[in-house]
Amino acid sequence: MNNTEFYERLGVSKDASQDEIKKAYRKMSKKYHPDINKEAGAEQKYKDVQEAYETLSDSQKRAAYDQYGATGANGGFGSGAGGFNGFDGGGFGGFEDIFSSFFGGGGVRNPNAPRQGDDLQYRINLSFEEAVFGAEKEISYNREATCGTCAGTGAKPGTSPVVCRKCHGSGIMTVDTQTPLGMMRRQVTCDICHGSGKEIKEPCQTCHGTGHEKKVHNVSVKIPAGVETGQQIRLQGQGEAGFNGGPYGDLFVILNVLPSKKFERNGSTIYYRLDISFVQAALGDTVDIPTVHGDVEMSIPAGTQTGKVFRLKGKGAPKLRGGGQGDQHVTVTIVTPTKLNDAQKEALKAFAEASGEKSLHPKKKGFFDKVKDALEDI
Ligand SMILES: [Zn+2]
Ligand SMILES: [Zn+2]
Repeated sequence: MNNTEFYERLGVSKDASQDEIKKAYRKMSKKYHPDINKEAGAEQKYKDVQEAYETLSDSQKRAAYDQYGATGANGGFGSGAGGFNGFDGGGFGGFEDIFSSFFGGGGVRNPNAPRQGDDLQYRINLSFEEAVFGAEKEISYNREATCGTCAGTGAKPGTSPVVCRKCHGSGIMTVDTQTPLGMMRRQVTCDICHGSGKEIKEPCQTCHGTGHEKKVHNVSVKIPAGVETGQQIRLQGQGEAGFNGGPYGDLFVILNVLPSKKFERNGSTIYYRLDISFVQAALGDTVDIPTVHGDVEMSIPAGTQTGKVFRLKGKGAPKLRGGGQGDQHVTVTIVTPTKLNDAQKEALKAFAEASGEKSLHPKKKGFFDKVKDALEDI
């Protein structure tokens, strides 16, 4: 029977106090949180830590574990009996979850616990070229910051918040309510300190006791080469100020790539449409093709058809994952001339004759032309 492993997972001794277990758990949860730690195996360690804490934080389960090991703890009381629900929610809501879970079971959440500030979103436009090559952008936005006058305490400089006289700092008070079934005892948020556990006798004049103030914040964002519309960059700690000494939230920079007049792009492939004349297509030619990396000389073989795609290797955008460089695709469109002078008409008739084409009668309407006219009228 093993009844020490859970202690080892949290890195505490078998006689650790609830406080020490809680502290160790916070530390390990942060260390292995899947949003923070991208190492292989971190997620499993994170789950192991949750499992250990679920047992050791509950005095009944802990006692069973000490006596019988893991089977005893789970078999004896059923897992999840303490109202502990794991951390499967995506994103970095984890911080709040971690703290709120200490008071699981539907009770009042400890209002004194440090809480991370809110996350913010910032939408940024990038030119086609900036998205291909990457860029460094300065952005500026308003956010709730820690009050500079009181350093976040909410109390006037020179004074400090005092422990709430009603709840003695817990932020929670107990109320008894008479019901038909008898007296009900409930825990609710303290009505004097509104859960902070502290009373501010003289509020800070800058923030009026909130501990936060709106401030303009400037950040430099590094955009990697090869990004696309809809992708996000997370800047840790660039969101809003936390509560009770909790960390700042994060900033999510959401990218929007503006269209280009010349190019289109899908992933690392850039698309370009090349218009050529019927003569170029028939006889072949060498043309300059614009790419984001500069002009490239490309030869068109004689007899090229509309819709033919040529690939310019390595002239696309960088591949975000896996590295390397994409290609540029050049799609050929043969443009039919719309205005011809007499000399050009003669040349084309001569061409048709030389090709053995018969019955070239552009003025005289045959049956098919009439059908076509009718269709155009619809
Ligand atoms: Zn209070
Ligand atoms: Zn202040």
